[in-house]
Amino acid sequence: MELQERLNEVRSRIAAAEHQSGRPAGSVQLVAVSKTFDAEAIRPAIAAGQRIFGENRVQESQGKWPELKTETSGIELHLIGPLQSNKADDAVALFDVIETVDREKIARALASEMKRQAKTPRLYVQVNTGLEPQKAGIAPNDMPAFVDFCRSELGLSIEGLMCIPPAEENPGPHFALLAKLAARSGVEKLSMGMSGDYETAVAFGATSVRVGSAIFGAR
Ligand SMILES: *Cc1c(COP(=O)(O)O)cnc(C)c1O
Repeated sequence: MELQERLNEVRSRIAAAEHQSGRPAGSVQLVAVSKTFDAEAIRPAIAAGQRIFGENRVQESQGKWPELKTETSGIELHLIGPLQSNKADDAVALFDVIETVDREKIARALASEMKRQAKTPRLYVQVNTGLEPQKAGIAPNDMPAFVDFCRSELGLSIEGLMCIPPAEENPGPHFALLAKLAARSGVEKLSMGMSGDYETAVAFGATSVRVGSAIFGAR
């Protein structure tokens, strides 16, 4: 199958899931995860009309996205991988949405870079819903205080929450937890669902799904 066909398939499955869950058509955004694929492999997705992309590494993104962004206007780039505070300057410069804010040090570094560059990428807090030690993200219990801290101490507006459920578990309860946490803290957006579970995520209220291999093929 060609990339265009796979992309269309994902789009129509999202639309069907929206419909089945009684959600308005177009309420879920597709973030096409292009990590490990080079500019040549990404261009067909842009040609097929895709504009929102996700990457998990700042340095890898710097090697392809400045050029791709110059070629086509309206590209929206999401950082979906862990961020080191010494990369906050590069992340603020390149990304439109940073989905992996998960600790004070990063929040502070982002706040000061956003001020310095007069640039305001939208921010999501990553929540480690499965409390997995190897995984990034703040613990669910610590999320409300952290979001309050970002808002009141740093003046950051937190637009969304993001999670990656444990690979071996049923993702539904994790998506439900993320939705509950967001509602409690007055956070609007929910980034959840990947190639294997994005339809489930739509049913649980995802406002964006991050789909890589189902579009670009195996990595
Ligand atoms: C790689 C990645 C994805 C996409 O995963 P697929 O299973 O290829 O769809 C989504 N979210 C994050 C955070 C990722 O790192």
